[in-house]
Amino acid sequence: MKRTAHLKSLAALLLSASLLSGVAHAQLAPASAPTAAPAGATAEARKANIVIIGTGGTIAGAGASATNTAAYQSAVVPVDKIIASVPEISKVANVKGEQIFQIGSESFNNERLLKLGKRVSELLKQPDVDGIVITHGTDTIEETSYFLNLTLKSDKPVVVVGSMRPGTALGADGALNLYDAVLVASNPASRGKGTLVVLNDEIHTGRDVTKTNTFKTETFRSPFGPLGYVVEGRTLFYRIPARPHTMQTQWDIDKIDKLPEVAVVYAYGNVNPASIDAAVKNGAKAIVYAATGNGSVGDYMVEPLKAARAKGVQIVRASRTGSGVVVRNAEQPDDKYDWIVTDDQLPQKARILMALALTQTNDPKALQQIFWKY
Ligand code: ASP
Repeated sequence: MKRTAHLKSLAALLLSASLLSGVAHAQLAPASAPTAAPAGATAEARKANIVIIGTGGTIAGAGASATNTAAYQSAVVPVDKIIASVPEISKVANVKGEQIFQIGSESFNNERLLKLGKRVSELLKQPDVDGIVITHGTDTIEETSYFLNLTLKSDKPVVVVGSMRPGTALGADGALNLYDAVLVASNPASRGKGTLVVLNDEIHTGRDVTKTNTFKTETFRSPFGPLGYVVEGRTLFYRIPARPHTMQTQWDIDKIDKLPEVAVVYAYGNVNPASIDAAVKNGAKAIVYAATGNGSVGDYMVEPLKAARAKGVQIVRASRTGSGVVVRNAEQPDDKYDWIVTDDQLPQKARILMALALTQTNDPKALQQIFWKY
């Protein structure tokens, strides 16, 4: 009798201890980090299947010497070789490489963007693929990731990654960036967060991220901060994207075969009005005017832009400042001129959004709503 009571109280003690430790663990562990345990036995037990698509860029670059951190040839190392150079990856995921392009990302155009998007979409439909990592040049990573963020129809993680230094350089950042990208793509917490960009220990949303420095490894910024960090094999999310993406948008990459021509015209003191006419003559269906300040338009540029609009070309006022909202009807009477403002999107991202929007409507009111929504 005495012994049973003793066992019962011991069991109660053990139960409360385990509950307590469970509570303590739940409080300590970040809410969105199910693979919070360091990569090891736990991660091994549920390894994800990740396809790494190689497109080129500095992450596939090589320099003449280890001190060439900024002068090198980009897009020369095949994706399988890059994967093989980071053996730690195989401990966290089953990866398969696929080379789709071998280019600097400045060479991306609409055709290549569509080809990449369609391939990613195809792979995401395969039940044995848990996530995708895309190795990409850093110059236009922000455009590709925004495009994928708006057009992919899957909740599975898609992570775009690059590096600022080639693998041959002292202090090369590609290996860790790639490892981190695979970690993020393998983590169920990354599902449903849209297309992500991982570099320099940070996780960004493809909507917001932009390159802000030509050579530093700390170049990627989101005006509202990153979504999270990758540290010591842990994927840590602190925010989620507020604007619609992937499953929630009105575009499906599988149904888009061509993107209309959208030009970006950069404003500066003494900007040549002929640049507007040139864009129109080149067949632009819309012009994103990367204006100064809050989308200000010089007095001698108003008429050329109005003339372009009269020819049916959509005009989007954006800002070259790098962040902030362009306020409708503030610097210019957009209602009167039938122009559109970009909200907070940078000119290069506004181009992507406008091209997608024009695949569905040419109504400026609907286009404006799209800019405010996405
Ligand atoms: N020009 C290169 C590219 O975007 C730069 C880089 O990858 O960092 O492909």
